[in-house]
Amino acid sequence: SRRQLVAGNWKMNGDKALVEQMQKQLAAASLENMDVVICPPFPYFGQFDSKLKLGSQNISEFDSGAHTGEVSVAMLKEFNCQYVIIGHSERRADNHESNELVALKVAQVLKANLTPILCVGEPESVREDGTLFDYIATQLDAVLLKVGISQFAEIVLAYEPIWAIGTGKTASPAQAQEVHAFIRGHLAKQDDKIAANIVILYGGSVKGNNAQELFSQADVDGGLIGGASLNPEDFLSICQAAN
Ligand code: 13P
Repeated sequence: SRRQLVAGNWKMNGDKALVEQMQKQLAAASLENMDVVICPPFPYFGQFDSKLKLGSQNISEFDSGAHTGEVSVAMLKEFNCQYVIIGHSERRADNHESNELVALKVAQVLKANLTPILCVGEPESVREDGTLFDYIATQLDAVLLKVGISQFAEIVLAYEPIWAIGTGKTASPAQAQEVHAFIRGHLAKQDDKIAANIVILYGGSVKGNNAQELFSQADVDGGLIGGASLNPEDFLSICQAAN
């Protein structure tokens, strides 16, 4: 059975004080049965002690060199970073990250032996016009084409419907389960075992009061948490729902 994971995506939020509060809160908790990852903005990486698992919110597709403003996987590794969120809908929108660039970045993260948290998810219009599964399949297929199914053994997936992000309008547990099952089934067409073992997180307005029901769905293996990951108590209660 799959071990549940909860990742806090701080986005462009937080400060030094939050780093301290979050470390304190999580250090005092007993969460032996699940994994917690914090994904802070880059400047705070060095401030975390080595007990917490760290993730990055983005990475350059290049190794090094003349790429002003970018951060490499090698740099992240020096700061105890183990996970990298790739393809978040905010980066796809704000930074014009295409499915092809997302695939390149996933390959770059895998090459460094870090774990990509690959995000997929549809805008509301796609759900309304009935092309939801095609849309998600296309996002997955770009990465499958680039890295191959066997590499999915090293990938964590996150389903984040765009209409549920930061809106308070979470997907219902049944809606989340339906897409998670589709994703697992899509991968199973290429490799049953990898599909059965891959961790698929749900993201989009996960809170302390809805986490338990979402995480108890058969194909939901934890969450990718935005707003609620900025409040240590709320975040802890979400982690406890996965423990
Ligand atoms: P919210 O939890 O704020 O809806 O954000 C979800 C998200 O985008 C996590 O990556």
